Amino acid sequence: MTNTTLIWLRRDLRLDDHPALSAACGLERPVVFVFLRDAWVDDLGAAAAWRLQQSLAAFGDSLAARGHRLILRSGAALQVLPQLVAETGASAVWWTRAYDPDAMARDAAVKAALRDQGIEARSFGGHLLFEPWTVATKTGGPYRVYSPFWRAVQGRDVDAPRPAPAQIRAPAQWPASEDLQSWTLGARMNRGAAVLARYSIAGEAAAHAALEQFMADRIGQYRNDRDKPALPATSGLSEYLTYGEISPNRIWQAARWAQEAGAGGAETFLKELVWREFAYHLMYHSPHILHSTWRDGWARFPWNTDAEVPEVLAWKQGRTGIRLVDAAMREMYVTGRMHNRARMIVASYLTKHLMTHWRIGMAWFADCLTDWDPASNAMGWQWVAGSGPDAAPYFRVFNPDGQREKFDPDGAYLRRWIAEGQLDPPATARAYFQAVPRSWDLTMTDLYPAPVMDLAQGRARALHAYEIWSKGEKTRDTLPAT
Ligand code: FAD
Repeated sequence: MTNTTLIWLRRDLRLDDHPALSAACGLERPVVFVFLRDAWVDDLGAAAAWRLQQSLAAFGDSLAARGHRLILRSGAALQVLPQLVAETGASAVWWTRAYDPDAMARDAAVKAALRDQGIEARSFGGHLLFEPWTVATKTGGPYRVYSPFWRAVQGRDVDAPRPAPAQIRAPAQWPASEDLQSWTLGARMNRGAAVLARYSIAGEAAAHAALEQFMADRIGQYRNDRDKPALPATSGLSEYLTYGEISPNRIWQAARWAQEAGAGGAETFLKELVWREFAYHLMYHSPHILHSTWRDGWARFPWNTDAEVPEVLAWKQGRTGIRLVDAAMREMYVTGRMHNRARMIVASYLTKHLMTHWRIGMAWFADCLTDWDPASNAMGWQWVAGSGPDAAPYFRVFNPDGQREKFDPDGAYLRRWIAEGQLDPPATARAYFQAVPRSWDLTMTDLYPAPVMDLAQGRARALHAYEIWSKGEKTRDTLPAT
């Protein structure tokens, strides 16, 4: 047995502020980085899988520049890791913690199996600012409401970020690796991949550049401008956090410094980062949030659960006839991201005007977003739909026209994404027609569609359904328990 440490990478494709890596380098142990194509990778949506491939390529390049390698293997961790331990003679396997229930079950089984073989199996933090079990209410339970959660963590210190190790020792011999290109992780993007590539730059260097630019140019105006989808007012860091190309601690520290320097938007930004923490807190303590309505009664709400009905297809295709909704859905299809305000509006439109189950919207986001994150996506959808903890009430229906007047008053966002009706549409609006599958049979010369649902009618239908449902729920509450 050698003193080699295998660093099993998942959503932590970085060298900077990587606690497991820093610990291994601190002990001057040789390190072998390994990434496995296991079930979670095969389950990723099309855009997320494509983006993962970019991230792995960027990380592999940065290791190569240091004379190091990224070892890629396919198969379940429980089989592949012991095999790799035997090949390399490693004495330790370390990794950064994950918090979704499938990953936690997998990691627990791997830890037990490796320890049985006398291997030092150890997990580290690094994906979150605060471990979910370290934040508790006065009675010791988990938080269900964001504001007290924020108050509980806002004054806490987070670990100072660790710089990338100056030296990472290589093993005496490299184990074999599969070829990243042969994984074809981007295959399901079809022709959309070429378009998406224009809007997404993967890797740690790009993540740090995004953070620096945001801190230098935009954080001061963040509070005022972050809700305007036409402006580049937010950080764009979510996709880097998703693949762990940057650590939350690194971002937190930069925002704290900005706050100390008097940047007006810094506290608002820190609060947004803490929404991500809250999402993980909820997922860790109530993992059913990923699949079923967080509040029990909402399972009985009369949602449409058919993803193939024309109005849901129109929603996915950005052809509902409601310009703000369509602009946002097209933005997501082309760039792999969608502005947060727009996410709330399209989610509200789907779950309220179209009375369609949030799970259908959540699944479509999971397929299209390059920043797809299980915890934030589930929380976001259940928050808008009204079925989640600390959710917006169902009767609060966003009016897309009112939202447009408020947040895109000069129509810049609409012009950026809706080509129809423009004599000379910008490249962004044209890109949508290049990106969508041929089977959708869409061209820029098509007429812009009439609304699939009249806004006033949709709103009235949703509120009526809500009234009947809530009466039923109240009646259920008064029935004797059986
Ligand atoms: P900034 O405004 O710069 O915020 C900084 C960081 O704070 C973000 O990168 C993100 O990590 C975190 N953050 C900001 N807002 C939220 C929020 N509402 N919830 C959780 N974290 C937040 N975010 C994802 O990362 N992945 C998802 O799959 C995802 N799905 C969503 C689905 C719905 C229906 C909604 C309403 C929101 C969703 N969000 C998701 C949250 C949010 O929209 C994005 O994090 C944000 O738009 C990312 O842009 P940014 O990095 O420029 O954000």
